[in-house]
Order: sequence, then C-alpha cells, then structure tokens
Amino acid sequence: MKIADIHFLVVEDHVFQREALVAMLAGLGARHIAEAVDGRAALEAMRAQTIDTVISDLDMPGMDGMEFIRHVGEAGMPVSMILSSVHDRALIASVGTMTEAYGITLLGAIEKPVTPQKLAALIALHQLPVTPPPKAASVFFSEADISEALAARLFEPLFQPKVDVATGSPAGAEALARWYHPEQGIVGPYAFIPALEANRRIDELTWIMLEKAAAACRDWRAGGLDMTVSVNLSLRSLITVGIADRVTALVRAQDLEPKHMTLEVTETTAMTDLARVLENLARLRIKGFGLSIDDYGTGYSSLQQLSRIPFTELKIDQSFVMHAIEKNACRVILESSLDIAKKLGLKAVAEGVETRADWELLKGLGCDVAQGYFIARPMEAAKIAAWAAAWTERSSNLA
Ligand code: C2E
Ligand code: CA
Repeated sequence: MKIADIHFLVVEDHVFQREALVAMLAGLGARHIAEAVDGRAALEAMRAQTIDTVISDLDMPGMDGMEFIRHVGEAGMPVSMILSSVHDRALIASVGTMTEAYGITLLGAIEKPVTPQKLAALIALHQLPVTPPPKAASVFFSEADISEALAARLFEPLFQPKVDVATGSPAGAEALARWYHPEQGIVGPYAFIPALEANRRIDELTWIMLEKAAAACRDWRAGGLDMTVSVNLSLRSLITVGIADRVTALVRAQDLEPKHMTLEVTETTAMTDLARVLENLARLRIKGFGLSIDDYGTGYSSLQQLSRIPFTELKIDQSFVMHAIEKNACRVILESSLDIAKKLGLKAVAEGVETRADWELLKGLGCDVAQGYFIARPMEAAKIAAWAAAWTERSSNLA
C-alpha cells in the first residue's frame, strides 16, 4: 500500500509533538491524517472513520496508551500500530509485546524523538502480513478423533535442519510432529500435544516419532551425511519405569546408535516423581543418547534443572534468539545462556534463527549450532539430502 493511501491517526497529548508528527507524515507523502489528544478521543475517531495505522504515545492524561491499546484489541479493530514514548526501551518493548498479545499488528516502537527516518522504516512494514499465525489450536479435536488418528498412525515427523555455526556444515535435524488430517490438512503440534498429554496418550506419539526419526537418521547417515536427529520428549513420559530400555531397543531396531540421537526434554508442569525421571534420564545418558534442555529460559526450563539433569546440550528458546537484535533484555539472556552453556561444557543450540543478522550475531557470540527459518523450515525426511547440498553451496557465501 502506498503511503498516500494509508489512513493515519496520530494520538498524542502534546500539541507541539502532535503537530510535528503530522507534519512529518505529510512530508513523507501521507494524505489522510487524523489526530486525537488521548485514547478516548482516538477510539471515537476510529469509530467515525477508516483508520489503517495508529501512531500512539503511551503516556497521556485521560485514557493512556495501554488502556487505549486494550480497547482496540478487544474490539478487534483491524489496524496496525506504531508506539512512541520517552520511556526506556525495555518498557516500550513490554508494551509492544502486550499489543501483539491483544492481536494487534505492531509495526514497531520508537523512542522519542521520532524522526522521519524511523517513521518511514516502520510505515513501510504496513503492507506486510506482520501478525504471526496464532499458536493456539484453532480447531478442537476430541479424544475419539485423536485415538483414531493414533491407531491409523496419521502422525508423521517433519525435520528441521540444524547447522554448525562455525563451519556451516549440516549437524542434525529436529523431528517435529505433524498430523496428516484427512479433512483439516497438515495440523501442527500446538493443536494436539496438549490434548495427548492431558489424556495420558503422549507416549503413543513419542513411539511413532522415535521410530520414524531413527529410521530417517539412519538413511541420511547411510547416504554419507554426518547428521544426528533430535526428538522431543515430554518429561511426563519419563515417569514410567523401564522407559529408557524401551527407547534404546526401539532406536537400535532401526539400526541407529543412541549417540546419534538427542532427546529434547521439555517440562510443561512442575515435576512429580523426580526420582524416577532422574533415573530414566541417567540411564538414557549412559546408553549414549544426547540430552537437551529445550526452550531454555522459559517456564520450568530453569537453572535448577541444569544442576540436576545430565544434559549435553542447551537449547536457547527462540523468543530470546529472534528478538536479540532489537530487545536488549533478550540479547542479555541469549549471551548469558551461551556463557552458562560454555561454562558447563554443554553444546549451545539457538532456535528461531530467522534472518542473516541473527546468524551473524550468533556467529559473533560463538554459539555452536543454529536452527531456524533462515536455515530451513521443517521438511520431509527424504528432502534433507537435497537441502544439505543446497545449503552447503549457500553457506560458502555466508563466511
Ligand atoms: P519446539 O521444540 O521449541 O520446536 C520449535 C518450533 O519452532 C517448531 O514449531 C518449529 O517449526 C518452529 N520454528 C523453527 N524455526 C523457527 C523460526 O525461525 N521462527 C519461528 N517463528 N518458528 C520457528 P512446531 O513444529 O509447531 O512445534 C511446536 C512445539 O511442539 C515444539 O516446540 C515442541 O515443544 C512440540 N512438539 C513438536 N513435536 C513434538 C513431539 O513429537 N513430541 C512432543 N512431546 N512435543 C513436540
Ligand atoms: Ca524442541
């Protein structure tokens, strides 16, 4: 969309600053600019006319920016938003996260003073589909639907490549579950993992994933690729006595050695039966499996776990990696996670590497392994060999 066609609304209580913003927008070529002195006046303006992009201050008498954003979000008004404030970056970033949580497309946040350059860069994003797809399940599946799908083995892994940051070589791939649903198409894990966990049927999915991932990795290795495979393991599965032996037998039955598989452990609820879980994890480690602490830095993936589980790998959550460049707090968490990994002798893996800038940053910080859309999206096992050839070519230009 051209800037001349975008309908702007400037929400700012200071007359001088509001006029400066309006003049700046006009200077950039905007032709439709409405103004409001606080959130209440802004909502009235939005009800009365078409608005595409709102530029709002946070600190205003009357209805402040945060309350205004809540009303816009709850009313489902289809606008994009730019926030501006004199407050520090951490505060603006937090309100930015809040804005996105209300389902509003956030083009970005600007620390005052606003300049035409900063403004133009954010307005340019207006035409892009910036709202990420919702993570929550949009379709509800009953226990009966899930039982049928498990019986028919409709769950399959896709594999997302991981690469060695220093050398650029393919290092492995993570198996991510997909449900090939006859009517809904390919369904992602957020729509069925919570239901499987709640119905205590997650193990059935885990067996399918372990077997198919082991077979895929065996084939890559037979084709000359020195790659490992990672499988997500819910800690709930590790309460069962004897599970470590069963996992080992299943992987060996596919002609894969345990040392070529890493189990990524995530914990979604507080751990019960700690002793049994630790027993199983210790046994898996002794058998040779790698153990990765998944989504490190979030939820229960904590320092306490690092001290009691024999991990070999620390997987830094994508929320820190993908925002490390623009959010100082994320960068600090990323750097300290890398530092902890190094001091504990763990391999550091960054997930959610989306851009070349993310890649360069990780390289500079000495991260071991990277995974994310910049490298590749999850794909079928049979496509990994072609990807590896193409990536090797591309990565030689990244050096
Ligand atoms: P996870 O283990 O943190 O996996 C990474 C998720 O981030 C995957 O989503 C992946 O497709 C996505 N992703 C990868 N790179 C990027 C990137 O650069 N940008 C962005 N925005 N996203 C990226 P997916 O496949 O939807 O998996 C979601 C979660 O479901 C996984 O998170 C994992 O916790 C769980 N899951 C997947 N498969 C299994 C499984 O077989 N068993 C269990 N227990 N959990 C699984
Ligand atoms: Ca994972």
